[in-house]
Amino acid sequence: MIGRSGNARRIWVALVVMTLCLAVAIGGNALLARYYIVATVPQGENILRLAVSGLRGELARYERLPDLMDRNPVLVRALAPDADPVRLAAANLYLRHLARLMGLSDAYVMAPDGMTVAASNFDQAFSFVGERFDYRPYFTDALAGGQGRFSALGTTSGKRGYYFGRALRDRGRIVGVLVLKVDMDAIEDRWRAAEYEMIVTDGEGIVFLASRRDWQFRSIAPLTPRTRARIAATRRYDDEPLLMLPLRVAGEAAGHDIRRLELPETRREFLTVSEAMPEADWTVHVLLDTAPARRQALIGTLAALMILGVGVALLTAWAQRRARLRERLSIQAEAQAQLEERVAARTAELAQLNARLGAEVTERRATEAELRRTQRHLVQSAKLAALGQMSAALSHELNQPLGAVRNFAANAVTYLDRDRAADARLNLTRILSLTNRMTEIGRTLRNFARKPNAQLSDVDLHDVLRDALEVIAWRIDRQPVALVVDMPPGPLRVRAGPVRFQQVVVNLVANALDALDGRPDGAIRIEGRRTDGRVLLTVSDNGPGIAQGLEDRIFDPFFSTKGVGSGLGLGLSISFNIIKDFGGELRILPSDRGAAFRIDLPEIAP
Ligand code: ADP
Repeated sequence: MIGRSGNARRIWVALVVMTLCLAVAIGGNALLARYYIVATVPQGENILRLAVSGLRGELARYERLPDLMDRNPVLVRALAPDADPVRLAAANLYLRHLARLMGLSDAYVMAPDGMTVAASNFDQAFSFVGERFDYRPYFTDALAGGQGRFSALGTTSGKRGYYFGRALRDRGRIVGVLVLKVDMDAIEDRWRAAEYEMIVTDGEGIVFLASRRDWQFRSIAPLTPRTRARIAATRRYDDEPLLMLPLRVAGEAAGHDIRRLELPETRREFLTVSEAMPEADWTVHVLLDTAPARRQALIGTLAALMILGVGVALLTAWAQRRARLRERLSIQAEAQAQLEERVAARTAELAQLNARLGAEVTERRATEAELRRTQRHLVQSAKLAALGQMSAALSHELNQPLGAVRNFAANAVTYLDRDRAADARLNLTRILSLTNRMTEIGRTLRNFARKPNAQLSDVDLHDVLRDALEVIAWRIDRQPVALVVDMPPGPLRVRAGPVRFQQVVVNLVANALDALDGRPDGAIRIEGRRTDGRVLLTVSDNGPGIAQGLEDRIFDPFFSTKGVGSGLGLGLSISFNIIKDFGGELRILPSDRGAAFRIDLPEIAP
């Protein structure tokens, strides 16, 4: 609905604007036409001035001529009542000569009764001689003693002319009238080629001269019966019907008439510039066609309309662009608002999520604290368990020799009582051995109270190995074991405590010997290597190896697979920690036969 009413409004606006434009264009065109027409006025005035002076000049040429001849004896003589043919012939020849000389149409002499007695055209078919022209004003006026001037259509010759009449006098008495008729055709012919029209009307408003032949002898104003009668009396235009030339005044421009010619065959409009020539009783009119000016105005108006059209089109385009822009902006604003709304919603969601996360974090922290607490408890329990395990192992290890010591001591007392000194000595020796073993256990346990960072120094692996093998030699000698030592030449220097390091090597070799116990083909290989700034010492044997699943546990303290009295399960645990204190690593190498332990320490650059 809104769209349709908007459209209707737009159509209305367009109609109103178009109507306004049309009105302005019509008005503007009229004004412009008037402007252009007025602009032609000076041209018309110029033409008129030239035409009038031309006409005046033409008439002036002949004006004084009759005065010259008002006593001409040849002519006067021809007017005498007794004039003979010789005199008349002389007058005729004289007049012909005069007419030819002066370029006159005709020259003739009339007797006071209006009868032509001699004429320049005496020898022509339409000779005036014998004709009577007493009805012409130029005759009557001249006879009355004045100067007759008249323009008219020749009744005999059928030719237009301007007549100058003058009384001929003989001794002061008027004896006749001399008439000079001037041809106007030449003047008129000059006008024909011009692009303007030109007419000369007489006092009655009849067109006497015209640039267009068909306008001749037409009346530019309606003729009253009296005027018609007057014209008929002088036979001025002979039998011409004197039709109307409907040049009606239709307007005015700069003091000049605009006349419209409305003939069935043509319709034209002229700017009419006129001037009266009272001496000839004429009015001269220059008719400038207004069509070019109107055409020019029309072109101007069309150009203006076109510019206006382009302007309106541009304006419309601009307005449409603005409207589109506004629309786009509003859409953008809407989208922006939507986006902001979404962002706000999302922000709220995130805030909620954040709060939840915060709560979760707090919860997790609490859980962690709880976990740590539990862990602490566990560690504590593990320690207690280890302590229990250790106590059990220790009591076991110590109770047995202690029990044995008590038995041996009791037996020794009995042997002494029975004077079996040799047996008593044997028992005492056994007691000594058992106490040695218990001392050994005690020393081993002391190692737990080691000081990790105590006194490290530069040691050569060769020395360590040599000392260790010396210590363990007595055991190697007792067992059928093939020992292979493979060491690279040159020092292998590491940072370590030499005694502790030696203890680790002894431990590893002792474990290998333990594993090979009872085997006839036992072999131990000790291999030293230097690679990438590290010193490696590997002790491997061809014993039963480490049972699967136990690799992780053999380094645990008190873990032992050996029977009671054979191992405390502390050797590997202590060794592992000693090598760790040196900044190195002790680990089991994967092996398909026997067990292989590797010590890995950083080498000290030589
Ligand atoms: P102990 O020798 O007192 O048992 P250790 O910590 O030295 O304690 O050794 C732990 C266990 O590791 C041993 O009981 C044994 O089962 C295993 N073990 C150590 N060395 C070897 C080896 N060379 N071959 C097979 N088993 C070994």
